[in-house]
Amino acid sequence: MNPPLDKMARDALRSELLLRREALLATLALHQGGESRVQHARELLLQDGDDAPQRDADREVDLAFTDHERHELADIGAALQRLDNEDYGVCTDCGADIPLARLKVQPQALRCVGCESSQEARKGGVTHVGM
Ligand SMILES: [Zn+2]
Repeated sequence: MNPPLDKMARDALRSELLLRREALLATLALHQGGESRVQHARELLLQDGDDAPQRDADREVDLAFTDHERHELADIGAALQRLDNEDYGVCTDCGADIPLARLKVQPQALRCVGCESSQEARKGGVTHVGM
């Protein structure tokens, strides 16, 4: 069986993953800076004994963003670790090779497009499959 990804492809994907990790870390740092500013603003407002629910809602949105980014960061970290293994680029559900075109768009992908779609459908979440 031929390995689906040669060294050049893996190196390119590794660079892509590292770039994305850098970008995410920068975004996370921004969010965390933003959160501490929000927190600071809240403390100032709370001194007036006023705690409108609207501000809690805003804060939950901030936290949701950060959770999503943390999740993606973990996926990228896992992909970087898998990159040199045989199972990188192989669908975890059906065992098919994930096409390089898809990996270029989503280097941290664990599943082929078909399995990813049914996974998203099962979760009933937002469909965000890319290629
Ligand atoms: Zn699959």
